[in-house]
Amino acid sequence: MRDDTYLANRLNCLWAKYFSDVPKKEDVKIHFGRKALYRFGSIKFCFTDKTVRVTINGRFQDKKYPREIIDHTIAHELVHYAQGFPTPGPALHRYPHRGGVIDKELEARGLSRLTGFYKDWAKDYIKNL
Ligand SMILES: [Zn+2]
Repeated sequence: MRDDTYLANRLNCLWAKYFSDVPKKEDVKIHFGRKALYRFGSIKFCFTDKTVRVTINGRFQDKKYPREIIDHTIAHELVHYAQGFPTPGPALHRYPHRGGVIDKELEARGLSRLTGFYKDWAKDYIKNL
């Protein structure tokens, strides 16, 4: 089973490699949440301690889910962060998923391989639910 340390390592690795231009303005924490069917990840600003919390679907603790799916989910949340979500203050895009902005930015950052992997995987995942 994967744990939160595994997630922190993946986050740091992806940040260093693909998001190094994005300043870490807050402490960014990552952890596994509940097991969900459709929601793979989320990012939110926590006002009480001024940290940013990334939550990854608890299902993905199981190693039968490929690492690329976790990487894709983390990268997706990092794009939100790079684009100004969920920090209080101005955001570049008011509606974060409109017009494929996430996929476009993943591609611009050299992560289109992950997007392709995710799309193929998601088809099978939904078929087998
Ligand atoms: Zn999103």
